[in-house]
Amino acid sequence: MTATTDRAAARRSLEGLALGDAFGERWFPLFREPRRALREIRDRRTPEESPWHWTDDTAMALALLRVLDEHGEVRPRELALAFALGYAADPARGYGHGMHQLLPRLRELPGQWREFARELFGGEGSLGNGAAMRVAPLGAFFHGSLPRVVAEAGRSAEVTHAHPEGVAGAVAVAVAAALSARGSLTVAEVVALTPDGAVRDGLARAAEVPFATEPWRASDLLGNGQRIRAGDTVPFAVWCAARHPDDLVSALWSTAEGFGDVDTTCAIAGGIVAARTGVAAVPREWLERREPLPGGSGPASSRESGAGGR
Ligand SMILES: [Mg+2]
Repeated sequence: MTATTDRAAARRSLEGLALGDAFGERWFPLFREPRRALREIRDRRTPEESPWHWTDDTAMALALLRVLDEHGEVRPRELALAFALGYAADPARGYGHGMHQLLPRLRELPGQWREFARELFGGEGSLGNGAAMRVAPLGAFFHGSLPRVVAEAGRSAEVTHAHPEGVAGAVAVAVAAALSARGSLTVAEVVALTPDGAVRDGLARAAEVPFATEPWRASDLLGNGQRIRAGDTVPFAVWCAARHPDDLVSALWSTAEGFGDVDTTCAIAGGIVAARTGVAAVPREWLERREPLPGGSGPASSRESGAGGR
């Protein structure tokens, strides 16, 4: 397979994913006071404490993009090992229960990913949102071929999320990111390429929710990730991205307004929108507050400033 790949679009998406992850994570403590949190989000009051640390969403996206950069495709064994090494380097990034079980095993025996991933959750495999939260850069990487986006996203998901809903969530987000990179994101087209099941049903409902709807109301209808399932997470995040296809900052504010699993919904929406926009229009203070990514290639001038990065 020789379809053209786009590393620059993938990197843009990764930057937006990490920004959304870190921005979203800042809101968790405030959700204990929901009225105040909603007011602050609607007033667009930027969280002040810094750095904004990124979480497992970004750690796993970094591992995925490293495999794509190195091999030009998803190689499940290599991906399993990359996820496991990222976990071993810093297991306190907010990984879910299933990944705490799985990733140490994959470090020892990465070739057995299929069997280990299937054993999770009583043999059903995970239907969580973990394969969706990390996959937007893959969609940007392969945006030249939507069939390839679907195939590679599925392969990337199965390494940890064997349940069909976990896989469908990843396919949907990767397709959305690919469409975004092409400048033609619509929820309806994401529905068309998503496998049957709860994720697709939720996306079909999302396609019917007018963009004039307030985001908190849309999240009531579509779910906000509170149940940590792909079907409860992906439809609202894709809806928010499609509501603001050219405005990453507005997409993140809208997504945060849904509360729930807010680092993950913001990572998904951020990764999708930034596949098109990058982070150039994001306020400088946001980029400075976000914990740098390993490799140092954050915002264009972060190397020159030398601030904080290691
Ligand atoms: Mg997270």
